[in-house]
Amino acid sequence: MAKKKNEACCSYCGRPGSMSEILIPSADQHVFICAECVDQIHDMLSQYRREIGAGTGTTKTEAAAINLQKVPKPQEIKEFLDQYVIGQDDAKKYLSVAVYNHYKRLAQPDTDDDVDIEKSNIILVGPTGTGKTLLAKTIARLLDVPFTIVDATVLTQAGYVGEDIESLLTRLLQAADYDVQAAERGIVFIDEIDKIARKGDNPSITRDVSGEGVQQGLLKLLEGSIVNVPPQGGRKHPEQKMIPVDTKNILFICGGAFDGIEQKIAHRMNSHVVGYATAGQRRKLDKDEFLRYVAPQDLRSFGLIPEIIGRLPIVTHLDPLDREALLRVLTEPRNAITRQYQKLFKMDGVELTFSKEALDLIVDKAIEYKLGARGLRSIVESIMVDAMYEVPSKKVKEFTVTAEYALEKIRNAHFEDAAALG
Ligand code: ADP
Repeated sequence: MAKKKNEACCSYCGRPGSMSEILIPSADQHVFICAECVDQIHDMLSQYRREIGAGTGTTKTEAAAINLQKVPKPQEIKEFLDQYVIGQDDAKKYLSVAVYNHYKRLAQPDTDDDVDIEKSNIILVGPTGTGKTLLAKTIARLLDVPFTIVDATVLTQAGYVGEDIESLLTRLLQAADYDVQAAERGIVFIDEIDKIARKGDNPSITRDVSGEGVQQGLLKLLEGSIVNVPPQGGRKHPEQKMIPVDTKNILFICGGAFDGIEQKIAHRMNSHVVGYATAGQRRKLDKDEFLRYVAPQDLRSFGLIPEIIGRLPIVTHLDPLDREALLRVLTEPRNAITRQYQKLFKMDGVELTFSKEALDLIVDKAIEYKLGARGLRSIVESIMVDAMYEVPSKKVKEFTVTAEYALEKIRNAHFEDAAALG
């Protein structure tokens, strides 16, 4: 590098001042650093912070500071959910409010009055395949806070085979690109929470590994505390550097089928009604209807410990999907199954249509084989596979799935056998 006489140089790389955008002197003017070195050091520092997981406290997090004016209002959140999830109005409403309040919590200034808005963790109770995970995933699409889904069944009490409870925060950290402060405002969806219910009603005999022990562990996270998280997940081991994560502002949404909880609800409601209502006032409710009345005490009867229930103050339900709802699931959501196949065919220049009778048949079969919404996709897939194989090579512009065509393909797919096995 050509250096003029007496010209100041960067003390790090030796670059002369004339070849740098700017040369920054130290306070005593004895040493200098050039703009290029500052950039390089900045990059190295960012990378280092990402690696050790220390939040930079600025950049990303500050940029994501909550501006309540820009946050979607509960009604807007619900309208968004409506585009992807059929029915489940109660759950959508509760979820929208909880998410909006979550933002409000994040936006509240530290030095406010004594009123502290508490976290409104949610628990969604509903049969499998009714849209609990779909709701959580759809919320994630809308939000710009880190989000992760974890399955409670993989979690075990520390010291047993399985994943430590802290590992669910590892996933959140990963979703936040190891920006700790961003993760500390994130949302975690814990699926199958009912699977860690205490087995049996007597709490004192044993502490079951996959049950109460996990609930106790989870409590620490739900309550809001500083948790040491292994950055790579899995098991903690002594040499691993831990990342402290404060869970105070993390929103937890739990979901579970709680099979058989209807009996607990029915039991509670009957014993409640007797005493101050006449028999005439008692309504006959069918099994599915009971879910609508699910309350915290039913979760307790089911085997969740009271402390956990206390930390999940919002309890809401999802309805089983009836025939009409399943039909809508097939065609209405923005990424409805039939629309996905139509898109696939369109890429080959083929207009795909499903006759009304074919759609009815698909729904009938999903109900007959007790596959619910989850089964719709596999049934449609089995109907479409031959067409997807043959149509691209044919010179056709249109393809219609009729009920006869669908029935023939379903018969060949041996769903009856699969359903019998399931
Ligand atoms: P779970 O309640 O067991 O978490 P999921 O949300 O995983 O059920 O649902 C499984 C699949 O069924 C979803 O991916 C979606 O395709 C479909 N589905 C279930 N419920 C609905 C719904 N209410 N609206 C639209 N699709 C649904």
